[in-house]
Amino acid sequence: MKLILSDSDSRPLWKQQLSSSIESVNKLLRILEIDPSILNLSEQASEQFSLRVPLPFVEKMTKGDINDPLLKQILPIKEEEEVHPGFSSDPLEENTANPIPGLIHKYKNRVLLIGAQTCAINCRYCFRRHFPYQNNKISTHQIDSIINYIGQHEELDEVILSGGDPLANNDRTLKNLIEKLNTIKHIKRLRIHTRLPVVIPDRINHELLEWVSNSKRPITFVIHVNHPNEIDETLKQAISQLRSAGSMVLNQSVLLKGINNDTRTLIQLSEKLFNIGVMPYYLNVLDRVSGSAHFEVSEPEAKQLIEKMMINTSGYLVPKLVRERADKPYKMPIK
Ligand SMILES: *Cc1c(COP(=O)(O)O)cnc(C)c1O
Ligand code: SF4
Repeated sequence: MKLILSDSDSRPLWKQQLSSSIESVNKLLRILEIDPSILNLSEQASEQFSLRVPLPFVEKMTKGDINDPLLKQILPIKEEEEVHPGFSSDPLEENTANPIPGLIHKYKNRVLLIGAQTCAINCRYCFRRHFPYQNNKISTHQIDSIINYIGQHEELDEVILSGGDPLANNDRTLKNLIEKLNTIKHIKRLRIHTRLPVVIPDRINHELLEWVSNSKRPITFVIHVNHPNEIDETLKQAISQLRSAGSMVLNQSVLLKGINNDTRTLIQLSEKLFNIGVMPYYLNVLDRVSGSAHFEVSEPEAKQLIEKMMINTSGYLVPKLVRERADKPYKMPIK
């Protein structure tokens, strides 16, 4: 499958791909040659958190396979309507660690800057699926108060751009933001959490590489890949360019039932990541956000999977199994 984009469009290729992302379930299933009636689709789930998937990610799915591990990450289904005790709309209570709009300061030395309101892809299991992005829109004025806050908090040494997806912003905006962060003396490291290189590899273009390689502070990228099928030649090239620009690239995954909860898949994922120059960082157990209970893998099963990984592969290919908790000053290792 190859998508055709118009030659007359002068926007960068990644922007065209972003705006031609698929938002209709029927259109997606037509491309994948799947009969919608054999799936337990949910209108309600779609309305609550819409389908959104860029074509380069769809191209990595297998036609006709209703159990495709990439398709399952994005398709709104009936199970999301179920109500489960312990699952809520803000499981991490981020609303309480939100000192000024656009900033989450929960851990001591590092802050999250909500660098964008949208993602290139809507992942069904996402803990931010109910996040009040509307209250966290960043205007130029707010950027100034964020920079001001970071400047006043000398205990901070790292700023993490998160989202939404920070790379959904254009390069001029990002370049300006990075330049401002670079002026704060106590900030030693910058980090970008993004799924864009995975779902639209063309996002890693010349303009981006320029501000990355010119940043005074090193910029680490944490990408988000859950399944080995998400890794292909185009991602490999994007990563290789980021590394040539001086960045370290790490990966975090979410442990998802029916998608990656078996040792073979997890080891293959780590090996493929390593082969393209990405080190496994975190394997997160699911955040208990309402609508995602059907993806949950129990802690005992998660621990067993990690133990089997430790037996069968090199130590540095085993990600840290962690749970994010509202009341902890770091991501809780599951031991
Ligand atoms: C995950 C997270 C971070 C980054 O934590 P690391 O363990 O350094 O990767 C920072 N702030 C918040 C609120 C987070 O959820
Ligand atoms: S924040 Fe990450 S996990 Fe959530 S929808 Fe966006 S890309 Fe997916």
